[in-house]
Amino acid sequence: MLEQTNPELYARFKADFPGLSEQFDGTDVTYLDNAATTLKPKAMVEAMNQYYLGISSNIHRGKYVSLESVSDRYENVRSKVANLIGAIANEVVFLRNTTEAINLVARGLGLDKSDKVVLCAESHHSNMLPWMENATVDFVSVTETGQVSLEHYHELLKQHPKVVALTHCANTTGVYLPLEQMVKAAKAIGAVVVVDGAQSVPHRKIDVKALGIDFLAFSAHKMVGPTGLGVLYGDRSQLEKLAPLNLGGGCVDWVDFNKYRLRKIPHRFEAGTPHIAGVLGLGASIDYLNEIGFDVIEQHDKAMGQRLLSLATQYDYLKVLNADPELDRGAVISVSIPGVDNLDDVARYLSDSYGIMCRNGHLCAQPYVSSQSSGQVLRASGYFYNTEAQLEAFFEALDQIVSFIIPR
Ligand code: PMP
Repeated sequence: MLEQTNPELYARFKADFPGLSEQFDGTDVTYLDNAATTLKPKAMVEAMNQYYLGISSNIHRGKYVSLESVSDRYENVRSKVANLIGAIANEVVFLRNTTEAINLVARGLGLDKSDKVVLCAESHHSNMLPWMENATVDFVSVTETGQVSLEHYHELLKQHPKVVALTHCANTTGVYLPLEQMVKAAKAIGAVVVVDGAQSVPHRKIDVKALGIDFLAFSAHKMVGPTGLGVLYGDRSQLEKLAPLNLGGGCVDWVDFNKYRLRKIPHRFEAGTPHIAGVLGLGASIDYLNEIGFDVIEQHDKAMGQRLLSLATQYDYLKVLNADPELDRGAVISVSIPGVDNLDDVARYLSDSYGIMCRNGHLCAQPYVSSQSSGQVLRASGYFYNTEAQLEAFFEALDQIVSFIIPR
């Protein structure tokens, strides 16, 4: 992995991410909850600070020099995001997070209960509840080993759903969908294709135009960026059909006492003062990721995914969710311990006795996790700054803890 193949680059992460040097009770912290949110590099925080500590003007609301300078910097980041995903700048909307982006689409499309939406069984609640609320949903089943059933998917497409909302990479298992193939099939029947890219955009370069995606949602905080900022990409023709979620200052060209005229896309979706500092921070995060290179990040992610799987399958008391080694997977693994449904204590011991921070529970994907496990699961998820030694330490610590819970 990266620490072996490119030790100089790896050494740089330690200097760039203060979080990597934190200690807890004298033990180095091993942060393995990157699927929830990643650590942040100094460069991102400095970009936000530069804004806050200078003349922190608002944007797009006047003609004075500092306001115009901030507005330009804000719009430059929009172009940077567009370049990252192969879109044009006006197709990039800044929102609060992935959740808000998907809610905007689910509400803004004007669906009703007679409309069908196809979802993956492994969907995060954020790519499930907005659709359940606004339409009628069908879930694509998963095979025994965790592969999405393409046969079932094609059956569901025959019912002409209005929307297909795919979770590119599952936050529960790190397994990627065969996106190209699934998008093509959905477009062929005229469905609007929405992709939840919260777990994939941080790790893999996605070209929305080459794939033919209509909407893509992701969050800055899962890609070394700030919290409170998400992105919705929408193909221009689709965005123009979408009703905004919020109305107010900044989203209109003209208002009288009876009516108003909305601004063009994307500004009509950004009512109110946006997270300006966050957007500037995201610009620095994207620069950082580009500097490392998405080819390097993706390779490391895949190598970690395989290593996590090979380590997890060495322990016969663990049940691994989606354990098929043939699956396309990233650096996420979830395990359950049959007979131990509540893993609060295990996660607490990992944290307090070993300094290992990882997530337990139903991972905001309760239907899928409950279908695979009688209780909670424990999830370890890495990013480019994690090492193989940390993954090994996670399983060694877990093995010691389990030996007390289930005496051998
Ligand atoms: N979708 C997936 C696949 C996720 O992993 C997450 C975050 N765990 C979300 C959506 C929601 O992201 P956010 O909390 O940033 O809105």
